[in-house]
Amino acid sequence: MYTLGIDIGSTTSKCVILRDGWDIAAASLVRAGIGTDGQRQAVQAVFENGKVSHGEIAASAVTGYGRNTYKGADMTVSELTCHAVGAHMVFPGVRTVIDIGGQDAKVIRLDENGKMLEFVMNDKCAAGTGRFLDVMSAILRVPVGSMEKEAVRADAPAKISSTCTVFAESEVISQLSGGISVPNVVAGICNSVAGRVSGLAKRISIIPDVCMSGGVAQNGGVRTAMSIALNAPVLYSEKAQLFGALGAARYAFISLSKDN
Ligand code: ADP
Repeated sequence: MYTLGIDIGSTTSKCVILRDGWDIAAASLVRAGIGTDGQRQAVQAVFENGKVSHGEIAASAVTGYGRNTYKGADMTVSELTCHAVGAHMVFPGVRTVIDIGGQDAKVIRLDENGKMLEFVMNDKCAAGTGRFLDVMSAILRVPVGSMEKEAVRADAPAKISSTCTVFAESEVISQLSGGISVPNVVAGICNSVAGRVSGLAKRISIIPDVCMSGGVAQNGGVRTAMSIALNAPVLYSEKAQLFGALGAARYAFISLSKDN
């Protein structure tokens, strides 16, 4: 039996099809989020990738920033619930999930069954989100996927003191023109994001295991800085960006068993 999870984010659309509520039969990721055709493309791609037809889906759930405008799913679920459920599937021992996406950051504390106990969130300010990294990536001409490689070469990470993305942009430009190396600036940028999100995380109790979810989890520079800032190992899975869609597909499966 198949269930479908759809996560429509601010920058990307992700889908997961689960077989019997557990095994990932197919996944898709399209780099276009809310307000674009990305959601339709992601849904089409996941069916093609899994060689599964619409008629074989027993239940579907949609989550993410764009969930309320999507019409094709059986239910809508909050992102917090989906990231908690998705992270718990991959890391059963996880108690704290740090989700950094394209335009917000959330820290979620879970119980041993993956149920959310409390959360804190920043959705007001681009600093401490993927948006900050994307803006800096464009200035530096270093793709976000290469930031880790640069950050590990840093010998004296720059200090980004501006708390606002717009001011931080000018700060980084003047650091570069003042001769600070790209690796040191990149490490400073990763430290800045980790500093902001770990500050948010410290508003609730950080219980191990800690993992990251969302697209920024792929940025090893931020992961390393986060681990230092929290003084705790930070677990990472290559599926981290799919945790929301994975959790949605699992939620759809659980809803079916509750109905019966
Ligand atoms: P949303 O759900 O809000 O669209 P995502 O969870 O998909 O956001 O995360 C998007 C962010 O992930 C981007 O802003 C970018 O900084 C980061 N990102 C995406 N791909 C990579 C990658 N390969 N390496 C590092 N960071 C990445």
